[in-house]
Amino acid sequence: MKYDENNVFAKMIRGEIPTNKVYENDHAMAFYDINPMFSTHVLVIPKGPYQNILDFAQNASTDEQTGFWDCFAKTADKLGIDCNFNCLANAGVDAPFVKQSVFHFHLHLVAGNKTGAFKELVAEIK
Ligand code: AMP
Repeated sequence: MKYDENNVFAKMIRGEIPTNKVYENDHAMAFYDINPMFSTHVLVIPKGPYQNILDFAQNASTDEQTGFWDCFAKTADKLGIDCNFNCLANAGVDAPFVKQSVFHFHLHLVAGNKTGAFKELVAEIK
């Protein structure tokens, strides 16, 4: 599948739609998920056009990978997260646990209490 330049995260990177940013550097940015599953639910994304975590791991440059993890670390620091969290990267429409809906690599970083959206997702998985 070809990377879709018009996916919602690509538009956020280009500044075409508003973004509730937590942290940003030259290669990556982190922002609050619009439909949070937990009291803290942030997405960390690279700025380059990578469809999923494997595409990013295989094809992103060393600077992009370093920038991504710097963004992840600074975001966690800014949110006061140092333990008791989860990270999730969904890949593909048929991913077995949770399906990918936006085809630009993003790492979900979640902490705190479950929201109604999480309870709905669990009901859907069952
Ligand atoms: P995934 O199922 O892993 O592809 O998740 C995509 C995530 O992107 C979902 O949790 C959505 O709530 C989130 N999302 C979609 N559009 C936006 C947006 N405009 N701003 C922030 N988060 C978004």
